[in-house]
Amino acid sequence: MTAQLFPPARTTTVRAAAKINLHLGVGAARADGFHPLHTVYQAIGLYDDLTVEDAPTWGLTLDAADYIEATHVPLDGANIVDRAADLLAAHHGLPRLGAVSIAKEIPVAGGLAGGSADAAAALVALDRLWGAETSDEDLLALAARLGSDVPFALLGGTALGTGRGERVSPVADRGTWWWVAVPSVEGLSTPAVYRHFDALFPDAPATPAPADAVLGALAAGDPMLLAAALHNDLEPAALDLRPDLETLIARGEAAGALRGMVTGSGPTCVFLCASADHARDVAAALDDPVVLVANGPVAGAHLVEYV
Ligand code: ATP
Repeated sequence: MTAQLFPPARTTTVRAAAKINLHLGVGAARADGFHPLHTVYQAIGLYDDLTVEDAPTWGLTLDAADYIEATHVPLDGANIVDRAADLLAAHHGLPRLGAVSIAKEIPVAGGLAGGSADAAAALVALDRLWGAETSDEDLLALAARLGSDVPFALLGGTALGTGRGERVSPVADRGTWWWVAVPSVEGLSTPAVYRHFDALFPDAPATPAPADAVLGALAAGDPMLLAAALHNDLEPAALDLRPDLETLIARGEAAGALRGMVTGSGPTCVFLCASADHARDVAAALDDPVVLVANGPVAGAHLVEYV
């Protein structure tokens, strides 16, 4: 019997969800350039899967849904997954090795934090592949260094985000909420939307608007209350940069959605619906190139396969 020269490759797949912001209160830019936020995140059932495998070098590939322009995702070393791997490897003094592939369904540059989801998935998957056993506390700290939305992508569910959004804590949410999400072919740059917010609101308060109305609606589990409470301080800036989104929101509401809004920095617009059937009806009435239906809250980055 010959010795086994190459042991079977170990493969790990981690799934991470898109986020929407049910409340996004934005304050005036801080001295470090970041804007203070009071935000309520919700993870919705629209996912990227990240698969990592043992390999003698580092490699990253992408398999994108047909509605995603794959060339918009950098594979030249500038992907947030490369940065996540670098940080985790440096934290443990390990070499950065592995073959990583992203199966992407979260629209790119859409305000849905797809990059942040991939970064969170990379931390969880590579931690497992490398047997690094990083504590939850350290994973959250590494996530916060990668981006303001990355800690939430680890946590999932529905959570309050403060600081620049990186300090997250779960909130009471009694609902299963149905959303129609309409991404744009053209993305919007998050820094550009924040710059436009600064120009539009030079007197923005230092303390962002509190999320009490949304938190109350979530605790009550009442879609009509939530529809009335949804709030996004970045919406005027996004609409100013992309006036076509105003028409889209009006079309979704005319199709019966309880409420439509720009999510995060946009340009994705989300429409709250009363049930799964209602969401499917609203989606069918919108004849945009890409219309997605998802419910929330769903889990944060989690293992779906380990071989
Ligand atoms: P954010 O609000 O965090 O900037 P977003 O949801 O609007 O994010 P992302 O899909 O995260 O947008 O992409 C923002 C930019 O990040 C893209 O234009 C792309 O160039 C770059 N990027 C780097 N890594 C990734 C990744 N894994 N997936 C998507 N985009 C990535």
